[in-house]
Amino acid sequence: MSLNPEQRLRILVVDDDESVRGSVAYVLDQLGHQVIEASSAAWALELFDRHQPHVVLSDVVMPGEDGYWLARQLRAREAAQEGWTPVIFMSTVSEATRVAEGIAAGGDDYLTKPVHPVVLEAKLHAMERLRAMRAQLLALTQELHLANLELKRQASHDALTGLLNRRGLDDHLDEALRLCARMRSPLTLVLCDVDFFKRYNDTLGHSAGDDCLRQVGTLLRQVARRPLDSVARFGGEEFALILPDTPRSGARMLAQAITRVFQGAALPHPASDVATHITLSGGLVTCDPGETADAGTLLARADELLYRAKTLGRNQFVGP
Ligand SMILES: [Mg+2]
Repeated sequence: MSLNPEQRLRILVVDDDESVRGSVAYVLDQLGHQVIEASSAAWALELFDRHQPHVVLSDVVMPGEDGYWLARQLRAREAAQEGWTPVIFMSTVSEATRVAEGIAAGGDDYLTKPVHPVVLEAKLHAMERLRAMRAQLLALTQELHLANLELKRQASHDALTGLLNRRGLDDHLDEALRLCARMRSPLTLVLCDVDFFKRYNDTLGHSAGDDCLRQVGTLLRQVARRPLDSVARFGGEEFALILPDTPRSGARMLAQAITRVFQGAALPHPASDVATHITLSGGLVTCDPGETADAGTLLARADELLYRAKTLGRNQFVGP
């Protein structure tokens, strides 16, 4: 009988009786499966580790450790690896009263000796179906897990710029503040906004406006690029930068860097009063070590300073 490679199983047959092992192995071989034989439970465990069989057919009563011991060992290994290999016990009629014990040990099914080829084949089919179902379930679980991750990402990120959204920013800022408090290191928050963005949209259209916001996001990310820095789209044309481990002096340098980067990029703004290119106004706040500030307070302070930057003539950053 010829099986395609996917149907061909690697089966570990365990029995201290060579004639039983031989006859079962013969049937399995005839069915087209690959057989590995072990004469003791301890040896079977070693072969199991080495060959990772698809199914284990095991005798119950053997000198040394018995078949139940083997099943318990296999289940313990699988618990660590999230695997599952069907274990079918082969026992004589007199041992059949111990069926419950075998199932408790981790067995999946029972065969009575002498093993009938037709019954054996049927059991293998059943086990194979279970295995396939389990594989499908695992694949589905994995898909669900990925879908959940994606949902989580979407919930915290802005679709237009790929930056954190308002919700992501809140979570991130809380987390960053906690971390900085614990490390006793300063944290700087920058809130900035594109100057005359409404006019940009009115002049060039919303599609150009969207492109512009994307480019602004990319430029801000170029400036805030240390591993723990994060950039968020706060809403509309407003952006926020969370900069852990950044003191006041660092914040000022960063503000200069942003202005420089936007000068260099020179994204044309046909309707700005302050420049021919896109510029930003921003407010900078630094939470010093030892100071306790919550995210809301920090954002409110940054927003006030941003407003001051606007009233002072835009295209500038105002610090505390
Ligand atoms: Mg035996």
